[in-house]
Amino acid sequence: MLISNFQSVTTMLSNFQPVTKQNSCPHCFKPDWCYRIGELSVCKRNAEPAPGWRITCKRDGEGTPFYAPVDKTKKPVRPKQKRSWVYFSRDGQPLVRVWREDDGNGGKPKRWQERWDGKKWVKGLKGIKREDIPIYRYSEVSNLMKLIAHGFGSMPCIEPQFCAINSV
Ligand SMILES: [Zn+2]
Repeated sequence: MLISNFQSVTTMLSNFQPVTKQNSCPHCFKPDWCYRIGELSVCKRNAEPAPGWRITCKRDGEGTPFYAPVDKTKKPVRPKQKRSWVYFSRDGQPLVRVWREDDGNGGKPKRWQERWDGKKWVKGLKGIKREDIPIYRYSEVSNLMKLIAHGFGSMPCIEPQFCAINSV
């Protein structure tokens, strides 16, 4: 613990950057007293966070709050939609269907899997042997969740002849 604390202190020190005339405080616009640590900034005049900044719960040794840049990397909200992807067994039978449903408000998408019982789709992957699913031949079934987590849009198609995508 001591070592990791020491490392975080040295990291903080190496990222410590007092404001200058050229690079003044983004909150009070003054060229001194305030400072930056990495992407965070601390305004020693306690100015309100400038647009594009937010106050964090972290404070420096004198109790001055750290300001962090507002996350601009948020992904655009997906429209309300329900999509499914079907995976076929090697003999061309439907085997597994995965679903993703977006609520259109940027909420966490619902995701689930179904298996083909010969007549209809049934929830869950019970009874499916992972070696029967061509796309998962090289990985664990648990990787299905990782694939889903990466977003269907970028789902890799290892063997395109076995992999069909149905847009709903
Ligand atoms: Zn300042």
